[in-house]
Amino acid sequence: MIDLRSDTITKPTPKMLVAMTSAEVGDDVFAEDATVNAFEQKMANLFGMEAGLFVPSGTMSNQLAVKVLTQPGDEILIDKTGHIFNYETGATAFLSGVQIHPLDGVHGKLTPELLVAKKRGQFDWEPSTKVICLENSTNKGGGACYTKQELRALKTFADEQGLLIHMDGARIWNAMTATDTEPDFFGTIADSISICFSKGLGAPIGSMLLSNSENIRRARRFRKMWGGGMRQVGLLAAAADFAVEHHWPLLAEDHRRAALFADVVSKCSQLSINRESVKTNIVIFDVVAGDAVPALDKLEQASIKMVQFGPKTIRATFHFQISENEFTQLLETMNELFN
Ligand SMILES: *Cc1c(COP(=O)(O)O)cnc(C)c1O
Repeated sequence: MIDLRSDTITKPTPKMLVAMTSAEVGDDVFAEDATVNAFEQKMANLFGMEAGLFVPSGTMSNQLAVKVLTQPGDEILIDKTGHIFNYETGATAFLSGVQIHPLDGVHGKLTPELLVAKKRGQFDWEPSTKVICLENSTNKGGGACYTKQELRALKTFADEQGLLIHMDGARIWNAMTATDTEPDFFGTIADSISICFSKGLGAPIGSMLLSNSENIRRARRFRKMWGGGMRQVGLLAAAADFAVEHHWPLLAEDHRRAALFADVVSKCSQLSINRESVKTNIVIFDVVAGDAVPALDKLEQASIKMVQFGPKTIRATFHFQISENEFTQLLETMNELFN
């Protein structure tokens, strides 16, 4: 089976397992896991932030960010395709008492122009806008990334308006690869960043919230309250560290394949794609005649799995555990089935 449903389906490699089992561990609720402590500081330094907090999922790190950056009754601004708005079970309302204001961005990206006059809170009857949430790269937005220039403009805007920036960097590794941006640049833009090790980097579990020391100190309490305080979790931090060191460089190949795949899709008469929108490892395309479900069934019969992303829309996501042979077979099958 060629499984392109998500870049989260990868399994730990033998070398990663060795790194995990040889990790020095301690009780991280007591802040005594040396591997976790070192890895949190290493990631904070890498991204130009003061501190980090290792957490089980990207959802938890996003929600911790919202929790520490807002008060109940506040509002956050996000593109309508954003993960926090679509795929976190309404958690901002439940955990932080915060309302989401979804905006109509392009490929999941926001611009200062879209945010003008969106800040509210001057009157008692308005929600108080606090945070701009940026996804980089975008997921439902099709893997688009922000350029440095775009981020600088957003940061200037946020400062002028007195708004904070949270970056959902579940795939920030892909964004850095695609835009050739150094990690510490993001520390000059965002007040908090959520990074994931369990997407294309291929760690089995793990994300991290990065921010200033005070925010991380507060997030640590909420992590415990929400049941995310873990014990000898250096095992997982070692896997995540291994993934950063050894799998980050592999993302460029995922991007190359996604582009080749998108080229093939663009030539399939039964499919349509905005070829320009493919920038990283995510390819979103439409079925022209008919719906996504029968197309996905045909693919599954040919041992290929993708996911439905709308009535006529399909997403394929590339990751390093697709072999060269499987990739060739994928391109041939697409031609056979959809041309
Ligand atoms: C996957 C993802 C997350 C976090 O997902 P978890 O499954 O909770 O780790 C957050 N944001 C984006 C954009 C994602 O793609």
